[in-house]
Amino acid sequence: MKRNTGQNREITKGWRSATKAIRSGTMRSEFGETSEALFLTSGYTYDCAEDAAARFNGEQPGMTYSRLQNPTVQMLEERIAVMEGAEACRSTATGMAAMTAALLCQLQAGDHVVASRALFGSCRWLTDTLLPKFGIETTVIDGREIDNWEQAIQPNTKVFFFETPANPTMDVIDLRSVCDLARAKGITSVVDNAFATNVLQRPMEFGADVVAYSATKMMDGQGRVLAGAVCGSEDFIEETLLAFTRNTGPTLSAFNAWVVLKGLETLDLRIRRQSNNALEVGKFLEQRIEKILHPGLPSHPQHNLAMSQMEAAGPIFSLYVGGGRKRAHGLLNALNLIDISNNIGDSRSLMCHPASTTHHGLGEESRLEIGITEDMLRINVGLEDPIDLIEDLDQALSSIGL
Ligand SMILES: *Cc1c(COP(=O)(O)O)cnc(C)c1O
Repeated sequence: MKRNTGQNREITKGWRSATKAIRSGTMRSEFGETSEALFLTSGYTYDCAEDAAARFNGEQPGMTYSRLQNPTVQMLEERIAVMEGAEACRSTATGMAAMTAALLCQLQAGDHVVASRALFGSCRWLTDTLLPKFGIETTVIDGREIDNWEQAIQPNTKVFFFETPANPTMDVIDLRSVCDLARAKGITSVVDNAFATNVLQRPMEFGADVVAYSATKMMDGQGRVLAGAVCGSEDFIEETLLAFTRNTGPTLSAFNAWVVLKGLETLDLRIRRQSNNALEVGKFLEQRIEKILHPGLPSHPQHNLAMSQMEAAGPIFSLYVGGGRKRAHGLLNALNLIDISNNIGDSRSLMCHPASTTHHGLGEESRLEIGITEDMLRINVGLEDPIDLIEDLDQALSSIGL
């Protein structure tokens, strides 16, 4: 197909970030469509029985069944791999399917995992409940200190698992130090990069082995579909991950893949603008309330580290209003423009109370250990005019006496 450059890795990897996000992975059909085609098909046909046999034994390239391959899904996977700077990528139906597959595909009973304690709620359920149930030991540490990682290593440690910045406490983990330590000890590092995305932070440039995503967040970015992705070496994806995902079936639907492809086209624009808006809103809030945790502001204890590994701080940060749950809920209830929602990465501004929603299941003790107090709120700053957002927060703060 003429000018089908999106599939040529030698060409696509030389493009700059915004170009990759629009053009890499595109695979045109015989109609020469400009926008990626949506292939809503579960199966594929063969010209003859011998072709079917050759497809199945791997002698003939091509697709056999959409749990295994689909053209729209493959376009998305190629695009994310190129943007990440990874050899390969496979998508999944949700971010949690990506995290679960990235961990379980390489672990077995008797192995040990070290994870940072500040993780997305369901990721903590994986480390605290699911993995131990299958005989995989886990140690959960404060991942901000490199010594804690080193001390937690055992002879059977196979994986380091963490997210940075972490949800919702905005803990920042030193990618270079933790990934270097993992490499030196023959441990696989798995980084959940949902908050920053590969536009703002590319963990593989700091030595990460596997990068996993909730593409539901910034990649779709408009609150429409659930999706996930795992990036890694050709060897890891083809030999280790694929056997797991093909046979257990957390496959992304072609329709959702198509929506995320469209989302990626504007990811660069959106995440940079949302990061700027979040800085504006953060600067306003910093003057009005006692404490906010925004990695883009010098008041964040790890501001310098964050800015050394991220191009911008992203759209999400947390704030502490004091006065416990009543005041935090009071602020949410007084908002007129910003929605109460636990989603993030959306182009709409959304706010939630982690202790009673996203991190409710963690239990009070674990919540307090990582800084999720009753007066804490998390905000996802969207693409609205930041002045409108500041005016909404201003009136809501006044209404609760702040
Ligand atoms: C949302 C999220 C997930 C889970 O992704 P889903 O698409 O909701 O399954 C995992 N990690 C982080 C950091 C997230 O924000």
